[in-house]
Amino acid sequence: GPMQVDVVIVGAGAAGLMCAATAGYRGRRVLVLDHARRAGQKILMSGGGRCNFTNLNSTPNQFLSANLRFCISALKRYPPQAFLELVERHGIEHVEKAAGQLFCAGKAKEIVDMLLTECEWAGVEVRLKTPVEAIEATDDGYRVTTHDDTITTESLVIATGGLSIPTMGATPFGYEVARQFGIEILPTRAGLVPFTLHPDLKERLAPLAGISVPVAATAGGMRFEEPMLFTHRGLSGPAMLQISSFWQPGEPLVIDLLPGRDAAADLAERRADRPQGTVLQYLDEHLPRRLSRVLCDWHGWSRPLQEYSREDLAAVAERLHCWTVHPAGTEGYRTAEVTLGGVDTRALSSQTMEAQGQPGLFFIGEVVDVTGHLGGHNFQWAWASGVAAGQAV
Ligand code: FAD
Repeated sequence: GPMQVDVVIVGAGAAGLMCAATAGYRGRRVLVLDHARRAGQKILMSGGGRCNFTNLNSTPNQFLSANLRFCISALKRYPPQAFLELVERHGIEHVEKAAGQLFCAGKAKEIVDMLLTECEWAGVEVRLKTPVEAIEATDDGYRVTTHDDTITTESLVIATGGLSIPTMGATPFGYEVARQFGIEILPTRAGLVPFTLHPDLKERLAPLAGISVPVAATAGGMRFEEPMLFTHRGLSGPAMLQISSFWQPGEPLVIDLLPGRDAAADLAERRADRPQGTVLQYLDEHLPRRLSRVLCDWHGWSRPLQEYSREDLAAVAERLHCWTVHPAGTEGYRTAEVTLGGVDTRALSSQTMEAQGQPGLFFIGEVVDVTGHLGGHNFQWAWASGVAAGQAV
């Protein structure tokens, strides 16, 4: 007869493995299925190979969702410190980079190994290279069909993540399961993703590839003060990744190249002190040389400051503090760190992640319409939602 377990989890990623270990320790018989050849592939490539596994300052305010209150309960019950304790119990060395952002001192693989070890200790079976072909509801649970097996289970957890990095095995499977059971999917789009530029601007900024500058970026009512990186494809770096999640196609993006300064006042003061001075000399004191060059050539800022009127200086300052860019778009799911939107949280219990109208069916991690800012928040959601479901299945 068919194999019988208590819990089937589809997706051996961050959320799925965390859920599996939690349920396993409760004595549930747990089977994890994944079509990939390795577990936790996104963990392996995360944080530049070092996995920014949590953020000590994570609060519900660092998340986007159509339903902002949904994530509060799970995040509160499994805070960053809880995951940090787990990491420390496994003797994994870690470092704090920017405020609160915790990374492995060694390799991200240590986090995957930790999760697989926890699964082993909890008696969980993880089956890789096993695509799920069909899911059906039965009288007392679900029937899951793989290419060589039929499994019946009381609880079914969907932890297949979002659409970003299709080459790493991302699929719309989770959304399809939700649809199959009449659960709403909120529109999905790439988040934490670099911007692409229209040809003219791309060409103008091409000489700047590789330069990083601290900026303040504004779009969609949000503002982030972080470094921006010019690349040969467009604009990237933390400031751009962060603001991309709030940007809508067609909207402008406003970049302050001199955050915290008052360029109009600075320039007026210099004009009084050094009438023969130039905008270039000023910019060279605050920006990388290549960038100040490009800006002065582009805007024709070459005359001595004494020839600038108050209005001229205000116009220069405006260009520096409110550089308005109209991105061509983003690099999309090909390079995005996350997928915005997804399974509508209004169909789920915020305590357990169980679908309200579909007992025994759970959605956790990135497939759900909860998306974190850059800096370890997305993994924190994966851990917390995984634990919430793992305690309930
Ligand atoms: P995933 O970890 O993506 O796991 C989903 C699993 O489901 C995968 O193993 C996949 O193979 C499997 N799967 C998919 N479809 C199927 C199917 N049809 N059948 C069977 N199995 C399937 N977040 C941070 O917090 N910090 C970081 O430093 C960070 N860096 C990142 C860097 C990059 C390049 C990327 C792409 C993302 C990064 N993220 C980071 C985001 C983070 O990786 C995700 O938010 C997190 O992995 C989501 O966890 P999850 O378990 O929901 O999904």
